[in-house]
Amino acid sequence: MHSVEYAGKLAVIAPATGKVIAEIQETPVHEVPLFYDQGRKAFDKWSSLPITQRLAFLRKLKQLMVDEMDEIARVISDDTGKVLTEAIVADIMPTLDAIDHIIRHAGQVLGRRRVKTPLLLFGKKSFIEYMPRGVVLVISPWNYPLQLAMVPMISALAGGNSVILKPSEVTPLVGKCIEDLFMRSGFPQGTIQVAHGGKEVGAAFTAGKPDYIFFTGSVRTGKIIQQQAAKDLIPTTLELGGKDPMIVFGDANLERAAKAAAWGAFTNSGQVCMSAERLYVERAVYHEFLEKLKTEVNSLQQGDGINADVGSMTFPAQINVVKEQLDEALKRGAKLETGLKPEDWKEGMFLPLTVVTEVDQDMKIIQEETFGPLLPVVPFDTEEEAIAYANGTVFGLNASVWSRDREKARRVACRLVSGAVVINDVIITVANHGLPFGGTKESGIGRYHSEAGLRVFCHEKSIMEDRGFMKSEIQWYPYKGKYPLFLSLFKSYFSEKRDWVTFVKSYITLLKSNK
Ligand code: ADP
Repeated sequence: MHSVEYAGKLAVIAPATGKVIAEIQETPVHEVPLFYDQGRKAFDKWSSLPITQRLAFLRKLKQLMVDEMDEIARVISDDTGKVLTEAIVADIMPTLDAIDHIIRHAGQVLGRRRVKTPLLLFGKKSFIEYMPRGVVLVISPWNYPLQLAMVPMISALAGGNSVILKPSEVTPLVGKCIEDLFMRSGFPQGTIQVAHGGKEVGAAFTAGKPDYIFFTGSVRTGKIIQQQAAKDLIPTTLELGGKDPMIVFGDANLERAAKAAAWGAFTNSGQVCMSAERLYVERAVYHEFLEKLKTEVNSLQQGDGINADVGSMTFPAQINVVKEQLDEALKRGAKLETGLKPEDWKEGMFLPLTVVTEVDQDMKIIQEETFGPLLPVVPFDTEEEAIAYANGTVFGLNASVWSRDREKARRVACRLVSGAVVINDVIITVANHGLPFGGTKESGIGRYHSEAGLRVFCHEKSIMEDRGFMKSEIQWYPYKGKYPLFLSLFKSYFSEKRDWVTFVKSYITLLKSNK
C-alpha cells in the first residue's frame, strides 16, 4: 500500500486494490524532543536489566507473532501489495528467526570476554565489554516493512538500548502493527516508540541527536542521513540499494538456475535490494537458458489471491522508474523477451514481468537499481568477462554464481566485490541470521545480523585490570638509567629467535630500578 498525507494524517491505500483501508496519525515534529526524553528515561531502566530479563520480553513478542502470524501476514500483504506467501516467507519468517537467534546467542555475544594479555604487560588481565549506546533511531523502508524494521530494533533492544522507529510512510499500517506488537508484549514504556510520517519526520528525528542511526533505504536518502550524522558525529549503519548480478556458467543446472532467476528477479515484484537484477549467461548455453527462463516467467500468476505468485508494486512513484529504464533500453535497441512496451502497460500497480536482452552495460537497466519486475539478460564468453560485468556497477550487496564446478564457483565468488555471494541459489544468505548482512560500495556501510549486528549497537569497551600490589610500573617515571635496559629488553623480546636470558635479566633489573 501507499499513503497520501493530509492534515497530519496518513491515508493508507492498498496498492493491489486502490482502496483506502486506514488512516494513521502523523507524529508532529515538535514532539521529537519528547520522544528522545522518554527514550533516555526508558534507557536508564532498560539497560540496567539483566540481559535474560530483556530477552524474556523478546520471547513474549515472538509468541505473540506466532499466535497472530496470519493476521500480521494480511496486514503486510494489504499494505504492500505483496502476495500472502511472500509476506509470511520473506518478511515474518526472517523476523522470527532473528528473534530466535538473538534469544539464543545475545547473552554470550554481548557478555564480557577475556582477551590474552601480552607478556610485556605481565600481571594484568584484559577484557572486552559491551555497553549499550542509548537511544537508537531505526529508519526503515517499505519493501520488507516488518523485517527491515524489526530486526535492527530487536538487535538494539537486546543490547540494552531504547529504540525509536520511523517506519516508511509508504507502508504505515505495518508501522502501526509493529508498534502494537511491542506494546502488547509488555515492553516498558518508552523502551520502544514509533514515530509515524514521511521524510520530514525522518529528518527531524535524524537531527534530534540519537546515539545511533540504523537506516535502510535508498542511496540518495542514505547520503543525506550520513551528512546530518557527520555534523553531530553520530555513528550509523546504512543498508542501501543493490543491483545484484547472477552469473550462470554453461555447466550449471540450467533447469534450477532458470527457476531461480525467475524467482530472484520477480519475487516481491522485483522490489528487493538483494535479488537477481542482472543475469549473465555463458554464451554456449545462452539460448537454451533464455528459453527455459521465458517458459518459467510466462507460467507465473500475478494477482492478490492466496495462490498468486507475484503481487503488485507497492509504491506508485516506482512505476515511472521502471518505465524510464525500460524505455531507454528499448530506444537503444534492447529486445523484449517477455512483457510489454511501457506504452502498452495497463493502468494500475501490476506491471508485466519483463525479460530484456540485447542490452549494453552502460544502460540504466544495468547500472541503476530498478525496484521493479525487470530482468536484463546478457551473454558472456569468459570467466574474466563475467567477473568484470558483475563488478561493473556502483553497488555490491549480493550476487550469485551458478556452476557444477565447485572450485570455479568459489573462485568467482571470491572475486566479486559484494557483501554476500550465493552459490547455486539466490538471495538466501539474508535468511541465515548467523551470517553478517550488508553492502560494499554504494550498497552501504556496516553489517548487521550475526554477532556484528548485536555488537554494533554497543560501545565496545576495553578493560585492563591490575591487582594493584606493585608500587610502580617499569615504564613509569623516573626514566633515569632505563633506556639501555629497555633497549635490551625489547631487542631480546622481539628478535625472531627470542633471547630469554637477556629478556628476564633486563626485566628484573628494570623492576629493581623501580624504587
Ligand atoms: P525507499 O524509496 O526505499 O522508501 P527512502 O530512502 O526514500 O527509500 O526511504 C526510506 C526511509 O527513509 C523512509 O522511512 C523515509 O520516510 C525515510 N526518509 C526519507 N527521506 C529522509 C530524510 N531526509 N531524513 C530521514 N529519513 C528520511
